[in-house]
Amino acid sequence: AKKQRRNAYKIFDQDMMEAKQDYLQIEAYLQTAIENDEFELYFQPKLDLKTNKISGMEALLRWHHPILGNVPPNKFIPIAEETGVIWKIDKWVLKNACIQNKKWAESKMAQQLRVSVNISPIQFSHPDFTEMVKHVLEETGLEPGLLELEITETTVIDNTEECIKNVETLRELGVGVSIDDFGTGYSSLNYLKRFPFDYLKIDQSYVREMFNRKEDMAIVKAIITLAKDLNLKVIAEGVEDSDILECLKDLDCDEIQGYYISRPLSSPDFETMMKLMK
Ligand code: C2E
Ligand code: CA
Ligand code: CA
Ligand code: CA
Repeated sequence: AKKQRRNAYKIFDQDMMEAKQDYLQIEAYLQTAIENDEFELYFQPKLDLKTNKISGMEALLRWHHPILGNVPPNKFIPIAEETGVIWKIDKWVLKNACIQNKKWAESKMAQQLRVSVNISPIQFSHPDFTEMVKHVLEETGLEPGLLELEITETTVIDNTEECIKNVETLRELGVGVSIDDFGTGYSSLNYLKRFPFDYLKIDQSYVREMFNRKEDMAIVKAIITLAKDLNLKVIAEGVEDSDILECLKDLDCDEIQGYYISRPLSSPDFETMMKLMK
């Protein structure tokens, strides 16, 4: 037993070493990912349940590394946040999402669509953040109304004052702001009325299990009611089948996003999908 435990300890130690190595490698490779053109934006459509039309799309970052392969954002975004390289990355995402959406808006591919961009908490509470957004909009020529920023609920809780200021400035510019992963932040609901948000985005963990867990159904219903009462639009993410779509429609949810409509797509594939839907 003693010997076994020593081995177990060794394995654990090795796991730690490997995790650390992984981290350092990702950290190093991230520094040059933009220069080496390793990032690509994918786009996942959002469906308006009232009109049955695509209303917009979320830009999601993909990293293709020659040695590491495709690294998922859940793995590299936290490292980018810790090392500070996220500032460069979020700016790259914002700029390229605006450039792409400007092209689509001019191509008459569809009615004009809103593009949503995920913004990291540290980035959002940075004093220069709104200036950066303004600059990118000017530089790319995208109409501010065709841009939306998604910030997580935790961002709001951790930096309330700075956050309110930034949301107000962005709204004055005409940019939309939504709260992502809503329901996971365990926060007081009091802050909600102080922010001029556009959308609440119900976290996919509640949506996916809606029919299997009555608690999740109750939470989804409560968030939709809350959004209506506060005059916010509400979007559900993680919709994977038609039963959930129908149920959300009955509950008066405004928009949905999820694999049932489409997985995130490369820009050429997104264009093809839009053409097929026409
Ligand atoms: P998120 O903002 O909550 O994005 C939604 C995630 O759920 C995406 O994963 C999307 O592909 C996935 N998803 C969408 N519909 C479904 C569905 O029906 N079922 C399931 N199982 N999953 C679905 P992805 O692209 O891997 O991104 C993960 C997270 O990484 C994002 O969560 C976001 O927090 C972060 N992220 C992605 N791109 C960016 C970015 O450009 N900047 C920043 N700061 N964060 C990003
Ligand atoms: Ca998001
Ligand atoms: Ca989310
Ligand atoms: Ca998330």
